[in-house]
Amino acid sequence: MKNPILYIVIPCYNEEEVLPITCKMFLEKIESLIKKGKISDDSRVMFVNDGSKDKTWEIIKNLAAENKYYKGISLSRNRGHQNALLGGLMEAKELCDITISIDCDGQDDINAMDEMVDAYLAGNDVVYGVRSSRKTDTFFKRFTAESFYRLMNSMGCDVVFNHADYRLLSSKFLKEFAEFKEVNLFLRGMVPLVGFSSTAVYYERNERIAGESHYPLKKMLALAFDGITSLSVKPIRLISSLGVFIMIISFIGVIWSIVSYFIGSTVAGWSSTICILCFLSGIQMLSIGVIGEYIGKIYLETKARPRFIIGERTDDKTNNIVKDI
Ligand code: UDP
Ligand code: MG
Repeated sequence: MKNPILYIVIPCYNEEEVLPITCKMFLEKIESLIKKGKISDDSRVMFVNDGSKDKTWEIIKNLAAENKYYKGISLSRNRGHQNALLGGLMEAKELCDITISIDCDGQDDINAMDEMVDAYLAGNDVVYGVRSSRKTDTFFKRFTAESFYRLMNSMGCDVVFNHADYRLLSSKFLKEFAEFKEVNLFLRGMVPLVGFSSTAVYYERNERIAGESHYPLKKMLALAFDGITSLSVKPIRLISSLGVFIMIISFIGVIWSIVSYFIGSTVAGWSSTICILCFLSGIQMLSIGVIGEYIGKIYLETKARPRFIIGERTDDKTNNIVKDI
């Protein structure tokens, strides 16, 4: 079998401080994998400039002119990490057999790539890079990040715990993924929806080598909110359940106010006011829930995601090879 072509896809936004340092690490990794005979010589390090306002694109252009293993594309303006990454992956899928996406700040251990490629060669189309611990994080970052994964899971989004956007994806996967037409992107929640065989490799995450994070608390919260609302209609279901719960409480409230009326421990007008209040709040909550159900359905329909993906066929070329057993 021919060695697979690997593209390392790296989104970069205002990274002039860190890029000159980390670009060498990526190059060394590609060269060492080629030398070991695991990947083809046509493999590349592909930077995606996400509309940077500093010298990032100049740096990428210079790198590409210097060394054939470097390559770059530039978005017309800043679109955010997830869009930049998707742009890079969609560009790469036509040119390679496997992609590995990674941030350009050197936080993720590039040595995990060897294991990722091995896992691909062993038959996986998706290999998640998972952080084995969060030692280098502050207590606050660790707490918020772990709560985020728990919340996502409880909301019915199938996200891999402690996995960000460091992962290997095959071009077979990406060709199917291209059919997911949604514009609100939360890639790590969408990857498990596609399917195919997947596995995880574990690595330690380091501190940023230089420059500053583009994900302050505000952006992290926005990402979490986007993640939940773009993958799950569970919040709508919760409103419906709340509606039913409030209806039951209201019913008890109505009985209570009538009983109080007959016992005579009320002022005039109290019972009727409470009855109307309880009745209407219950009805209102339930109605919002029902309307929400329809909005949820419209929302899922407008995504126009593929309804099924065929993973294998008996007449696939690779399946016709008679294996020695
Ligand atoms: N990034 C991007 N566009 C943006 C913001 C960030 O392409 O609008 C890139 C950034 O250059 C980096 C990656 O996304 O390679 C992750 O960003 P960062 O390291 O700042 O996030 P953190 O690791 O702190 O969560
Ligand atoms: Mg980072």
